[in-house]
Amino acid sequence: MALRCTTCNKPAFENAQLKHCSRCKSALYCSTACQKEDWPIHKHVCEQFKATTTTNPRPSLAHKLALILPVDEAKPKLVWMKFEEKTEAAEDSDDSDAVYETPDFTYLGDGGSPQLLVISRTMKAANLQLQRFDLEDSVVIYLRGAGSIDGSRTNACVSALVKGSGRFNWRGPLIVLGQPGTAFDPLIHRDIVPMDLRLAVDYLRSYDGFQVHPFEAISA
Ligand SMILES: [Zn+2]
Ligand SMILES: [Zn+2]
Repeated sequence: MALRCTTCNKPAFENAQLKHCSRCKSALYCSTACQKEDWPIHKHVCEQFKATTTTNPRPSLAHKLALILPVDEAKPKLVWMKFEEKTEAAEDSDDSDAVYETPDFTYLGDGGSPQLLVISRTMKAANLQLQRFDLEDSVVIYLRGAGSIDGSRTNACVSALVKGSGRFNWRGPLIVLGQPGTAFDPLIHRDIVPMDLRLAVDYLRSYDGFQVHPFEAISA
């Protein structure tokens, strides 16, 4: 993945060095203006990103960084999620078997059959400003499929992040995951980076309940 500014997506050039957030060394910025713009969002995860390189390292190679937006807490949680690797035998013996990973859906709570939102693709299609972004990777959100009717409470973390500017009542916990590449159906995941939270918050704020919304039912 190319190094890019967390806020404006500008790539690193020899004469335009990106600077790390001095606290977590994880977020990258092209200017102090971009760093300042991102701080209201980044401040929630800065310490947690720092911890992943110090006191909270990767438990195993099956774990990747994920973001949980808890239903009852204002602060997003950066967690090492353990993915389960599965293999689907190829129908044709000439093809190789498909290897894919399933996320840990227990974070969605009991009985939450997961629904998938591929937000990076939707946002790029819908947002003129984002069309200038070179999003080399995908960002996806999982939510409870029946969250709007199963008694799930309004997500307090989303409410805190969008600061009252959201237009949709997101209910239940949300899982934000990164996937490498922009293929329609990526099979594996990558660690969350600070830009992913930024994109997720932009999406959760702008979704109004009517714009094209690629809910895709998936089997857990
Ligand atoms: Zn920038
Ligand atoms: Zn930081």
